[in-house]
Amino acid sequence: MNLKNYDSLYSLMEAFPTEESCIEHLEKLRWPCGIVCQWCGCSRKFYHISRSHRYKCADCGREFSVRKNTIFEESRLPLRKWFAAAWLMVSHRKGIPSTQLAREIGVTQKTAWFMLSRLRAVMEMIDDHGGPMDGEVEADETYIGGKEKNKHANKRLNAGRGTVGKQPVAGLRSRAGKVKAKPVASVNRRELHSFIHANVVPGTQLYTDEAPAYNGLIQYRRESINHGVGEYVRGQAHTNGIESFWALLKRGYIGVFHHFSWKHLHRYLHEFSVRWNMMHQTSGQRMDAVLGSAAGVRLTYQELIA
Ligand SMILES: [Zn+2]
Repeated sequence: MNLKNYDSLYSLMEAFPTEESCIEHLEKLRWPCGIVCQWCGCSRKFYHISRSHRYKCADCGREFSVRKNTIFEESRLPLRKWFAAAWLMVSHRKGIPSTQLAREIGVTQKTAWFMLSRLRAVMEMIDDHGGPMDGEVEADETYIGGKEKNKHANKRLNAGRGTVGKQPVAGLRSRAGKVKAKPVASVNRRELHSFIHANVVPGTQLYTDEAPAYNGLIQYRRESINHGVGEYVRGQAHTNGIESFWALLKRGYIGVFHHFSWKHLHRYLHEFSVRWNMMHQTSGQRMDAVLGSAAGVRLTYQELIA
């Protein structure tokens, strides 16, 4: 497999100068062990349809290309634009708005928005395959949204708890660096406990603040920090890791997206988490992870706006 590091947009364009070079790369990412029929699942024998990147399955007799059953299937856009969009999306720590992507790759804002939504759906799938956390894990909650003037009035990121118009989000960060975040109906014991039980291995050392909603997590060892009396770090007990993720998320919210609709908030959380969890990889590796996982995710425009 081609493991070049496309760590600049220029090197990406150099590595993929033609549509054909993109198709070949996508085929390698998607079929590392050889072509698989997208109709019957067979991988026995194929006829290469001359002067095209289409294949005919010897078993079922049907034709397909590498775009079949992927987010690219119903798109007439060149793969070069998809590659650039995926690269730009994973390279910007706070993401890229559809208006900017539209200008960068020469598509309409509506098309750019749709491309980003499809790529975000792929990132959602990558994130869901993360598995539960163990070792030492910070648990915390925050609020996204609300009025701009309230945000600047408070230095503490999770200040202003319960303000109307904000969406509560629960989050976890393992000391190994991985994060997970999810919108919750409310910051209560039932919601936070079920989020932690679903994502943290029993017996793990948890660090939280003193919110009573975290009381009673008997499957875990727990240490809490009392933010109310100005305590932020005591030995290993702190929640600074997850709070730096909240800070990035909020800078993205304020500076890039301006608004995450409630309906799509979980997808933005996946997007930010996946980028965060791959921060030690190059932009090219992150792009390959997204493109290689694009199979099996399809989201029609109707589903998105429904
Ligand atoms: Zn077949």
